[in-house]
Amino acid sequence: MTDTTERRVFRLMRRPSGELGDGDLVLSREALADILDDEVRIRTLLLSIDPSNRIWMSDADQYMPPVAIGAPMRGVTLAVIEESRSSKFSPGDIVTPLDGEWASHQVLPASRLARARPREGIPLSALMSIFGPPGLTAHVGMVEIAGVKEGETVTVSAAAGAVGSVAGQIAKARGCRVIGIAGGPEKCAWLTDELGFDAAIDYKRYDVGTELARLAPDGIHAHFENVGGAILDAAIANMAEGGRIALCGLVSTYNEGGPVPGPREFQRVLMHRLTIRGFIVLDHFARAREAFAEIEELARSGRLKWRDHIVEGLENAPDALSLLFAGKNSGKLMVRVSDR
Ligand code: NDP
Repeated sequence: MTDTTERRVFRLMRRPSGELGDGDLVLSREALADILDDEVRIRTLLLSIDPSNRIWMSDADQYMPPVAIGAPMRGVTLAVIEESRSSKFSPGDIVTPLDGEWASHQVLPASRLARARPREGIPLSALMSIFGPPGLTAHVGMVEIAGVKEGETVTVSAAAGAVGSVAGQIAKARGCRVIGIAGGPEKCAWLTDELGFDAAIDYKRYDVGTELARLAPDGIHAHFENVGGAILDAAIANMAEGGRIALCGLVSTYNEGGPVPGPREFQRVLMHRLTIRGFIVLDHFARAREAFAEIEELARSGRLKWRDHIVEGLENAPDALSLLFAGKNSGKLMVRVSDR
C-alpha cells in the first residue's frame, strides 16, 4: 500500500473457540490518524507470529491484558519510520514499537518505540528471531532459569522451533549433552545433523518417556519446556535428583479453553527434589545486551544456526498462526508486511 492516509489492520472480533476460525480476526482498511508533535508514522516490515498470539486472543488468566474485542490485534513487529515529528527518529530508522499491531502502519508517540540494531551481514529478519524475543527467551531460560552447567544432560521440547532450537544450541555451547524433542524426522535430522544436538526424539513416532530413559539413563539435569502435557510428564518422569525445569511455554494447551491440568506424576517433584520455574521474557529485557552478544558471537562463528520462516502478506497472518499449532513452521515464523 502506498497511500499512507489509510492502513490495513486486523481487529479481534470474537474470541476463538479452539483453533482460530474465520471471522475471529477481521482485516479492514481504516484512516490513519494525523501525526502530532513527538509522534511518528511507522510502516510494518515484519510481523512476528507467536504461540502467545493465541493466548492474547483469549480471556484466560495471562501475563498481559487480553486483546479487547474490537481492538487491533497485538503483535511484535519490526517497522521503518515513514514520517517523523520527533527529534529522536528520522525517516528510514528501523524500530520496534512497544505496542505493535497486526497492521500495515501505525501512528505512535516516539516514546513508545525502541530503536532496532540491524547486524552487518545478517538478514533483518534475525531481529525477530535470534536477536529478538525468541533468542532472548532461549538465553534467559537456559542460562538464568535452568542454570545449565558443563557436563549436564539437558532436554528441550519443541526443539526445532524458534525458541527451542536456540535454547538447545546455547546449552551445547556451554558444554552440555543436549537431547531435543520435536515432531517428525526432518526436524529431528536438522537438530542432530546441522545444529549439533546429541540426540533427537521424534515424539510423533516414539514414546518420549521410553526414549528419554534410554538416552538419559542417569537422568535429566535441566529441561527446557515449551509444550506441556504428555511431553512435560515424560520429562518429569526422567529428571535426575535436584533437576531444574525452565517452564517457557505450554503450546499444546493454548487452543484449549479452561484450566490446564498439572503434571500427571506431580509427586515426583517432591520425591526427586525438582524445581519448576516459569518465566516470561518481558521481565528479562535487562539481559538483552549480554544475551545477544553471546548469540551474535555463536552465530558469527557458525556455532549457532537458525531458520526464519517468512510468509508473505499481512492478509495471510491468521493462516500463518495455524502453522504453529500444526508444527508446520520451520524456524521462527513471521509475516512480511512490506519491503524495506
Ligand atoms: P515454535 O517455533 O517452537 O513453534 C511452535 C512449535 O510447537 C511447532 O512448530 C510444533 O513443533 C510445536 N507444537 C505445536 N503444537 C504442539 C503440540 N500439541 N504438541 C507438541 N508440540 C507442539 O514457537 P516459539 O519458539 O515461538 O514458541 C515456543 C514456546 O515458547 C511456546 O510455548 C511459546 O508460548 C513459548 N514462549 C515463551 C516465552 C516466554 O516469555 N516464556 C516467549 C516466547 C515464546 P513440532 O513440529 O516439533 O511439534
